[in-house]
Amino acid sequence: MTINKFAQVGIDTPLRRLFDYRIPDSISELHVGCRVLIPFGKRSVVGIVVKLIDTPSIEASRLKNIQEKLDVDAIFNAESLALIRWAARYYQYPLGAALFSALPPALRKSKPDDSQSTEIKWLAINDANESLRRAPKQARIHAWIKQHAEGVNKQQIRQQFPGSSVTIKALEQRGLIKSIEVKEQQLTQTLADNKLRLTEDQNDVSQAIINSLHQFRVYLLEGVTGSGKTEVYFSIISQVLKSPKAQVLILVPEIGLTPQLHHRLEKHFGIAIGLLHSNITEKQRKKTWLSITTGEVRIILGTRLAVFTPIPYLQLIVVDEEHDASLKQQEGFLYHARDVAIYRAKQLSIPVILGSATPSFESIHNATLEKFQHLHLNKRAHSDLMPKIQFADMRTEKAGTIISSPLNNAMHIHLQAGKQVILFLNRRGYAPALLCHDCGWVAQCSHCDSNLTYHTKINKLICHHCDRKKLKPEQCPKCSSNNLIMLGHGTQRIEEVLSQQFPAYSAIRLDRDISRRKGSLEKILADIHQLNHQIIIGTQILSKGHDFPDVSLVGILDIDYGIHSTDFRALERSAQLLIQVAGRSGRRSTQGEVFVQTHTPDHPLLQTLLHYGYPTFASKALQARSEWKLPPFSHHIAIRARSQNNTHLYIFLEKIADIARQMLPTEIVVQGPITPAMEKKAGQFRAFILLVANQRGLFTQSIETYLNHIETLAESRKVRWSIDIDPIDNF
Ligand code: ADP
Ligand code: ZN
Ligand code: ZN
Repeated sequence: MTINKFAQVGIDTPLRRLFDYRIPDSISELHVGCRVLIPFGKRSVVGIVVKLIDTPSIEASRLKNIQEKLDVDAIFNAESLALIRWAARYYQYPLGAALFSALPPALRKSKPDDSQSTEIKWLAINDANESLRRAPKQARIHAWIKQHAEGVNKQQIRQQFPGSSVTIKALEQRGLIKSIEVKEQQLTQTLADNKLRLTEDQNDVSQAIINSLHQFRVYLLEGVTGSGKTEVYFSIISQVLKSPKAQVLILVPEIGLTPQLHHRLEKHFGIAIGLLHSNITEKQRKKTWLSITTGEVRIILGTRLAVFTPIPYLQLIVVDEEHDASLKQQEGFLYHARDVAIYRAKQLSIPVILGSATPSFESIHNATLEKFQHLHLNKRAHSDLMPKIQFADMRTEKAGTIISSPLNNAMHIHLQAGKQVILFLNRRGYAPALLCHDCGWVAQCSHCDSNLTYHTKINKLICHHCDRKKLKPEQCPKCSSNNLIMLGHGTQRIEEVLSQQFPAYSAIRLDRDISRRKGSLEKILADIHQLNHQIIIGTQILSKGHDFPDVSLVGILDIDYGIHSTDFRALERSAQLLIQVAGRSGRRSTQGEVFVQTHTPDHPLLQTLLHYGYPTFASKALQARSEWKLPPFSHHIAIRARSQNNTHLYIFLEKIADIARQMLPTEIVVQGPITPAMEKKAGQFRAFILLVANQRGLFTQSIETYLNHIETLAESRKVRWSIDIDPIDNF
């Protein structure tokens, strides 16, 4: 047996390379995929062993020793290492940084493993007394802890009230809260044998997949809203889990917004579900991650970050709502979890199911090319009726009308029948602009090219792009006029309008401002299910696959916004949003009704969507994309840059555009520098160049050399830049 003397180590840095270290005699049995502690510059950092080697790339005498081995067994197995290696290369992200972003945060640190199975939680034991009146912070935290009868842990408190450790101590000393140790639930291993009564369509689809398990196939499951895609997943998962040890990975866009799926999985299978997303405690996430890597947890439900988790007995991947943009990471390592999942399935020779009522154009295109197998569920599970969608022509309404007369009439009818109504508007806050009637001044963010949105609850102006908050001025700062007017409407204003126009009914608002607060989303969803509210007004949270049985009417208040955007993907997104939100209605016996308010009811593609449905709409819109050679008929790479200095920004981008024209194959078209619609954001100017190729293969040979070259440019150090392979946004 030869013993390797050196290791190639991945480190969490932006540098596009691995680092060689010597393995000292004191460290024995070092495996690939283990974490090590190594000297790096003046610090000690954690690294991950990627390869064991005999000959280092630089003179051995200059190499430093590994200080410590942090894991006995590899925490990345060969399969997950290969996957991350591929993804780092495909998305042109440094391998070290990619490995670290795949690790739960608690494992990125060098702290020794403290996998004890108890957790400290805080409980409110007494009511707040008089003395808390002078300690408002304590009072608030006490009231909050009191709301959670099951107790809350430190991290949850800290998330809600940053820097609260001292206050918690004070509350404990006052005897108002106490800490308890909670033994975490042991994972049960019994598979509940729930019999499903699938509809004929559901059964056909699920059999088609079950008949060819254990081989690589991509299934595009296009099922209309309410068709019971989840039940199909469950029936296939049940089959897969019959093989001893088999594990299943389910990826969803945002778990926080759809707690239902977790509960349904737990109820159906009767085993603990491994939950992986960024909103659980670091400790819990590490624990779950580790029990997945040992094979103990068999069903893994996670957001995009779960796609890299080592899952030793993985037999099936499901990507639910595969069209959803949140499956693409938007910062740092810009991978698309759906595409990584497909690669992973291929590597493992297992099936992957992509489910959606409104598949992405990429996936539809791949199904047309027969790279994916297209399966359909054309009927709802509970009813034969799909919602009836119609336009409300806003041109015939008085300017500034928020709820059109046909929608208003329909609301009265549905509400009187005891049904619930959803009003959808993708704009939170009260009003998107504050304007001076006398001089035309508009409240703008000083750091972004954007208006400030007025939020009524806190009486502040907020920038939705950089989150800066400002007090609302009483007078115009330019001409001192008192004539300031709120222009347009957001969800808060709708809430106000509803309390005037529909005072007899309870309306609830569901947007990010609310869902961010104290686990209140689950409570609101439960209240909606119990019919405590009749009108639900919300943003895109409402498009995320919720199943509200008693909603029979949906009003989409403003679809124009997305239609007139400059981004070529805007129409696809708007159509998906429209169909998804419309799909919340009439999910039981009554037929749902949907009104879409627009100033352009004649828009040809909107007409197609309404009269012929999403598949026809998609094929027409795809045809237009093909004529313009837009993705998926071409492949894009965006190189984005930002800087406080506009001159540095354009010098850099023009230079790299020139280099691209010289270095890259001539078939690749270089566009730009292009200035995005919002040029300045958070104090930085932004612009990008676009590389367009008809075949993806054209990039693979040349792009790495090109990037390495960019890195050596002096101009590249004066800006912040990043590369996005298959971008889904211009900026
Ligand atoms: P989708 O995800 O396709 O929109 P869901 O999976 O949420 O649809 O299913 C919609 C509703 O129909 C759910 O309440 C679900 O429990 C119910 N359902 C699905 N399949 C069946 C079935 N075969 N028999 C009875 N109810 C079903
Ligand atoms: Zn003014
Ligand atoms: Zn801003």
